[in-house]
Amino acid sequence: MKTYKYSDLSKANISKLVQRNVDPAHEVRDAVEEILAKVKLHGDKALYDYALKFEKVVLDKLYLTKSELSEIAEGVSVEQKTALDTAYNNIYKFHQTQLKTEDKVETMPGVTCWREVRAIEKVGLYIPGGTAVLPSTFLMLGIPARIAGCSEIVVCTPPQKNGKVNPFIAYVALLLDIDTVYLTGGAQAIAAMAYGTKTITKTDKIFGPGNQFVTKAKTIVQSTTTTAIDMPAGPSEVLVIADETANPVYIAADLLAQAEHGVDSQSILVTTSAQIAEQTIAELKKQLPVLPRAEIAGKAIDNSYIVITNTLDEAMQFSNEYAPEHLILATENWKNITDKIVNAGSVFLGNLTPESAGDYASGTNHTLPTSSFAKAYSGVSVDSFVKKITFQHLSREGVKNIGRTVEVLAELEGLQAHKNAVSVRLEKQ
Ligand code: NAD
Repeated sequence: MKTYKYSDLSKANISKLVQRNVDPAHEVRDAVEEILAKVKLHGDKALYDYALKFEKVVLDKLYLTKSELSEIAEGVSVEQKTALDTAYNNIYKFHQTQLKTEDKVETMPGVTCWREVRAIEKVGLYIPGGTAVLPSTFLMLGIPARIAGCSEIVVCTPPQKNGKVNPFIAYVALLLDIDTVYLTGGAQAIAAMAYGTKTITKTDKIFGPGNQFVTKAKTIVQSTTTTAIDMPAGPSEVLVIADETANPVYIAADLLAQAEHGVDSQSILVTTSAQIAEQTIAELKKQLPVLPRAEIAGKAIDNSYIVITNTLDEAMQFSNEYAPEHLILATENWKNITDKIVNAGSVFLGNLTPESAGDYASGTNHTLPTSSFAKAYSGVSVDSFVKKITFQHLSREGVKNIGRTVEVLAELEGLQAHKNAVSVRLEKQ
């Protein structure tokens, strides 16, 4: 891993260092645009063709029914079921508290304003399944969708080599009471959920992480169709801030946990201790080769780096500029710096809190903004699955109290009809 000294880095160096997944030659964009156009034009036929091209599978149909899912789910062991059930319960518990009723506010006597929550009706969930199948993502998206009360939940995931889904995806579908899982992945799945095909319903909003193709497809359909997206949640990344109280064995394990996601993942260490940096590099050399996904993780580590700072404050400045999806504070002094966090998707505090806990089972959501989008986006929550509609009511007293203000404002903007809409009501008082 390349090591930089923070004090040697100019502003321009830092801006360049924190860039990721930039696609300068537009290769990803071009590939995705072609896929979107084919699905728009050929619908289901394009989905069958892409399953053959990318998953090397000839599908006889594009979906699995509940009874097929029940049969597939029989492959889940008792221990695996217990783990999935525990994760389900914790994620449910944490997300349930997010659905809140807001107070009505009387802004002037007789003028009452408030907001009410309504679920987005048709939502599309993308469950990645390229290099690793992620039933955990299914829980992270399905649970808030159910809590919000979405009436139609469309689920797409790439088919496995046998033309089905793996037993864990099937089991989670049953936990979430999902009737159908569609066997399509990548940009083509996003296209299907944005345009609709004969088999797959057009949705109002698409959720879920994925590789660069999935993420690019989401950002394109968001600006070209009436389907919204949760956020750009692309290749995963972690930034670890560590001081001399950190444990290099834990840091290396956390960096590798992120790196094994994909070759385009990034694992950054920002530390005040040159010794911790050296020990972490030595640990990476020990832990990496024995991983089953060593090749993928190794490439991601090559694409990662270490920054040495003089103080934790400097480390935090770099982190806020990077705006990591996951931020780990590997220090016993984490309480002194949490209020300095400005940009991060999800934060893991202290030496005993691995990111994997949040990836799977502690309760927080793991679908998070990447590529510095944490500067402006939040991770998925129940809020992502609802709209908040504003309401207002004016009583006779309310019209009288607010009437003249509205008349004057409408007049100064030159909008006579706006003024009249109030004046006719004031005349009736
Ligand atoms: P995936 O399901 O995202 O992508 C697989 C699909 O990519 C395939 O079905 C295929 O259609 C498409 N594809 C592959 N090569 C292609 C090509 N050359 N041209 C066009 N399309 C192509 O699964 P994955 O690849 O394993 O990626 C999962 C990603 O999700 C990882 O990058 C991981 O880091 C990320 N992730 C992010 C978060 C988050 O919250 N940000 C959470 C979990 C996972």
